[in-house]
Amino acid sequence: MAIDPICKMTVDEKTAKLTSVYKGKTYYFCAPGCKKKFESDPEKYASGN
Ligand SMILES: [Zn+2]
Repeated sequence: MAIDPICKMTVDEKTAKLTSVYKGKTYYFCAPGCKKKFESDPEKYASGN
């Protein structure tokens, strides 16, 4: 399982449809809003991982 960096929910990589690649690492999201939030400021959330 992966962790949604926005809300810290667990996301199954096998079924996740919402993903974003930042600096070579794939991030998984539970909802479109989480993905949008991450992409608006990826540096902030990626560093907190
Ligand atoms: Zn989320």
